[in-house]
Amino acid sequence: MTSRPYHDDYWDERELWSRDQLAEYQLGALKQQLAYVGSRSDLYRQRFAEVGFEPGDLRSLEDLTTLPVTRKGEYVDAIERVPPFGPGVACDPRDVRRVHFSSGTTSQPTPMCWSQRDLDRWADLYARSAYSQGVRDTDIYQCLFSFSWFVGGLGGTLSYQRIGATCIPGGSVDAQRQIDTLFRYGTTCVGGTPSFMLHLAEVAQELGRDLRDSQVRRIMVGGEPGAGIPATRQRIEELWDAECRDGYGSLEFQPIAWECHRGAGGHLAEDFAYAEVLDPETLDPVPDGQRGVLVLTHLDKEACPLVRWWTGDVVVRDSSPCECGRTHARLPGGVLGRADDMLIVKGVNVFPSAVEDVLRRSPGTTGEFQIVLDDEVRDPTTGFLSGLKMRVEFRDDAPEGAADQLSANLRNELKVRAAVLPLTPGTLPRTTHKASRLSEEGSA
Ligand SMILES: [Zn+2]
Repeated sequence: MTSRPYHDDYWDERELWSRDQLAEYQLGALKQQLAYVGSRSDLYRQRFAEVGFEPGDLRSLEDLTTLPVTRKGEYVDAIERVPPFGPGVACDPRDVRRVHFSSGTTSQPTPMCWSQRDLDRWADLYARSAYSQGVRDTDIYQCLFSFSWFVGGLGGTLSYQRIGATCIPGGSVDAQRQIDTLFRYGTTCVGGTPSFMLHLAEVAQELGRDLRDSQVRRIMVGGEPGAGIPATRQRIEELWDAECRDGYGSLEFQPIAWECHRGAGGHLAEDFAYAEVLDPETLDPVPDGQRGVLVLTHLDKEACPLVRWWTGDVVVRDSSPCECGRTHARLPGGVLGRADDMLIVKGVNVFPSAVEDVLRRSPGTTGEFQIVLDDEVRDPTTGFLSGLKMRVEFRDDAPEGAADQLSANLRNELKVRAAVLPLTPGTLPRTTHKASRLSEEGSA
């Protein structure tokens, strides 16, 4: 199905609603949605009853905070009690049109269901995102997201089709054929994971071809944080000579946010999901500009609606208008980290990735380190950290006082006190996969 845009520059007039209009719409939609969810979803009927919440109680958007957040673990447990789809399916099971699954790296793959209306909504929202990046019906889109199990392949293809672009569902395998295809058929835009974009550029070089000579000028990446990391984005843009924009979504929410052509942080789809940004410890809302965990509530999902879904993703929200004219709030820098990885040291949020960044810029280290979370720095009653304790490998030729220098740099840049225990090179365990930087053991 092809749809017509609302305006030459905007896919949907809702993108231009004032903040007041948006809030009014959200409240109306939430009232309706919670009434639907409370009567049709066994999962939420029970959760609402546990806290004595009646959907009719919702008078303002703030009233939503009287409901508990829904965490992934709770959702997975509920599915195990009522397999295979769980008690969260709110529509008639005959109306479920499609099921996608989580990648299941840490647990059994979790299913998520869509009705026909949900699928149409999804395609339309992604069409909105691609359109805001400059994609038009004259484009040729090669979808390089995986089609097997992963949500990206079908989602990407159907949305660009909706704009009227010519779509080539390539998938994320067979790099050489993807490259041949994009040169032969004059592909103008692609979508895929940042790592596959980098992989294709590498393979092209091995084949003696240069992707900068292709017609591709727009890239939408997703599925991994990559595009939010400036160095990765820049690398992709250089290798392809194309504009790279981030599309952020999850199995549970498709989409969450995407960048417009301005690339100033992904726009939330605020007429699709009501977004809260919460302090990970107190669960109180944090103001714009402050880090917190993104929590989302579907406003019109039919098949598997979620209420106050804890994404675990740490973001900063900016509700000021974007230069593109769209009013929906943005997430500058994309996903800044996972709440599970975040340490709170005397009220200061510290990510191991930020520690690593400082450490790699300090002289004399091998780059290997471990953050030790033991009773010396952790209050056993509250669990709060009073400072950082770190084991750090230093090279044999490290300058004198390198450990003190690192400690001072951490204090200056991250505002935390850090005790640095120097180690000789090769002391800490190496992993080929993502390194674990946290250790609960006693001191070295
Ligand atoms: Zn914008």
